[in-house]
Amino acid sequence: TFTLDQPPLDNRYAALGPTYGSRVEPTPLQAPRLLHVNRELAAELGFEPADLDSDAFTDIFAGNRALPGGAPFAALYAGHQFGSFVPQLGDGRAILLGQLRDRESRSWDLQLKGSGQTPYSRFADGRAVIRSSVREYLAGEALHHLGIPTTRALSLIVADDRVRRETIERAAVICRVAPSLVRFGSFEVFYYRNQPQHLAPLADYVINEHFGELSGTPDRYARWLAEVVRRTAQLMAQWQAVGFCHGVMNTDNMSVLGLTLDYGPYGFMDAFDAHHVCNHSDEGGRYAYDQQPGIGYWNCSRLLQACLPLLADDENRAVEIAESLLEPYGPIFSAAATASWRAKLGLQDARDSDVELINRYLTLLHQSHNDFTRSFRLLGDVPMADGSAGPLRDEMRDPAAFDAWLPDYRARLRAQGLADDVRRVAMQAVNPKYVLRNHLAQRAIEAAERDNDGSEIERLLTVLRRPFDEQPGFDAYAAEPPPDARHIEVSCSS
Ligand code: AMP
Ligand code: MG
Ligand code: MG
Repeated sequence: TFTLDQPPLDNRYAALGPTYGSRVEPTPLQAPRLLHVNRELAAELGFEPADLDSDAFTDIFAGNRALPGGAPFAALYAGHQFGSFVPQLGDGRAILLGQLRDRESRSWDLQLKGSGQTPYSRFADGRAVIRSSVREYLAGEALHHLGIPTTRALSLIVADDRVRRETIERAAVICRVAPSLVRFGSFEVFYYRNQPQHLAPLADYVINEHFGELSGTPDRYARWLAEVVRRTAQLMAQWQAVGFCHGVMNTDNMSVLGLTLDYGPYGFMDAFDAHHVCNHSDEGGRYAYDQQPGIGYWNCSRLLQACLPLLADDENRAVEIAESLLEPYGPIFSAAATASWRAKLGLQDARDSDVELINRYLTLLHQSHNDFTRSFRLLGDVPMADGSAGPLRDEMRDPAAFDAWLPDYRARLRAQGLADDVRRVAMQAVNPKYVLRNHLAQRAIEAAERDNDGSEIERLLTVLRRPFDEQPGFDAYAAEPPPDARHIEVSCSS
């Protein structure tokens, strides 16, 4: 462990220099209060537990006091937003404090989000409101504990500063933690500025830091990009399998490490709708649930395009290489997705007819708008023998459609021959009981906004850290939203 006055800090990203961002200090907040600290993550990073409760900790992670050894830095990037290229974005309200080495010598970017204006703020205030900060803080933990690659957050601090959105809200700041926050857009910015000479230093930085086995090899850029494509395809399969919608899959929100990055108007689906759009601002449904895998592909193609100068001197040759790097996306996604759905249905061997069986189940959930999470969790309790199908059938909004599918599912289970209780255990390990439903986050937000009360965040995190375990006494956290909480609207405003 380390103490707060001497963190093992480094500034290798900032050392890339002014081509890649700007040195900028956080703007202090008024009366910052620590609403929640992620003790689990802090321990992994090597923080001294007693330091987490100190005023110094709150001040540092509010941006009111410097983190010793840090060289705060806002990164430059661009990106395709809703399909159109925006030439200059960058960390408009986020500031990298530095890079922390943990006990196992892994490096972590510590980045404040909501810490005031930077050269990339354009006309915005550089702040984040409590509601969006709580949502991002919770989401990182929820996905992490579902086994999905993601950024996380160390701290959540609320303040008295007023922030104008649709209404006046209060400011908050989180400290995001990730091995790296480099995005597809970090590369796009140089391609579209026609500054291809700036691509290689950034690519080498990413490769040296995170793809060490490729360092210095002649074909490292192609091999690194192949890995980004692979990870992105895998990530999309993981999102789909838990009903997670990101909401703003702009290329500036796509991680070159394949992490889930930038939580805004995301949502875990309650009632299943294949065309579900979680972001109220996404009027065209560009980022609908069933569009995510295709958007992941399109985003990879934007990254590859931006990186063409890294692939070959001859442009035609570079395009050929880029196409060959993109090609595996579809097969990788399909294989990963099919494997997930099979596991979710409790099918441990593979048969050609499985895809049809899976699709029929998804179609019936979609048509009846059954709860996505519950419909997979309870499937584990369905006995393979004929007779009662247990509690799942009682929840089916279209029991007749379910009854039409069930005999084929049972026949498939019998052909597999695995005992019911063995299959149930395997299914419960992949079908979470608890996900971060919007209405659960909303309750935690309201307590935070009203009373600076972080206790509901703590409770919710306790549940979300063991999403696959039965947790007696927490049934309400596994329930569908009550009728008045079904249509919480979340938008890009944050
Ligand atoms: P996002 O939609 O969250 O990915 O944000 C898109 C861009 O807008 C990024 O460059 C952000 O840094 C910037 N941005 C969003 N909100 C603010 C804000 N309140 N102040 C300054 N920049 C912002
Ligand atoms: Mg963003
Ligand atoms: Mg955002």
